Amino acid sequence: MRLKRRLVALTISGILASTISISPAYADGIPNYPGSSALRTGVENSAVKKMQAALIELGYDIPVANGKYGPATTRAVSKFYAENGDIDDGTSVGPLGWNEIFIALDEQRAVNKSEKEYDEATKEEVAAQLNPEQAATVIPEGQRGKQPARGTSSRSLPYKMPVIGEISAVYNQKGRRWAGRRHDGIDIRAPRGTVIKAVVEGKVIFAGWKKAYGRLIILEHSDGTTSWYAHMSKRIAKKGDVLQPGDTIGLVGASGHTTGSHLHFETHNVNDEKINPVTWLQTRVWKVEPAADPAPETPVSESAPTEK
Ligand SMILES: [Zn+2]
Repeated sequence: MRLKRRLVALTISGILASTISISPAYADGIPNYPGSSALRTGVENSAVKKMQAALIELGYDIPVANGKYGPATTRAVSKFYAENGDIDDGTSVGPLGWNEIFIALDEQRAVNKSEKEYDEATKEEVAAQLNPEQAATVIPEGQRGKQPARGTSSRSLPYKMPVIGEISAVYNQKGRRWAGRRHDGIDIRAPRGTVIKAVVEGKVIFAGWKKAYGRLIILEHSDGTTSWYAHMSKRIAKKGDVLQPGDTIGLVGASGHTTGSHLHFETHNVNDEKINPVTWLQTRVWKVEPAADPAPETPVSESAPTEK
């Protein structure tokens, strides 16, 4: 009996969730938190308490989560709306506002977790990259331009990647999903909200939306090459910013043309032609032999892509 009731409740919340997800603001594969009735100044219940706890964790100035929708909560909600733009509920929190608050909380937790993870995983690499002498190691034999195997963790590679996650598609990989039937970057699968870091110093020359790329940031580097970071859920760096290795560019998402949450990382040479991002990364972490020929763009074996 009890199970049956729970199943009915799950079905109803499922219907609510799918109804709300029709709104374009939620077309991004992001979670929904439907079901809260409107909360406003003067209301006192457990939903208010839960919302207050979320706002406190998000950094808003509410002294204590006591379940009472008083002046401090009213100010915090109003500030949250002002900072999170696209909803205008004044100071009351209906289903949309509730949804936004808990999405923001999910995102903040993911950011904190991945920031910590990234810092731990790349401490030595960041130090090496900031120290040119240490970074000037010759690329090991057979490694030049070599693509990582799909499914490997970017953390295990000898050069730093902008995101910690699983390599889900490599450069030049064949597939019908891609324009030109070749993948022109490298994909790293990671949960929404995972931090994307600069791995080489660069200046933000583009920060906006670009068709299939979705939310995109482009960095220009001192040698005139550019690196592209696509499908973000959020851009953090601003146009004109000069980023150092380890600075945050944005957060992983699924904006633009994509089937799931991942970073599409792409690099261009001075003529704005797409080049192998692995070679690009390696030659900035590892010294290139002066006499070495340009890296061949080795096509990888044909198989179905796992991601866009
Ligand atoms: Zn891609």
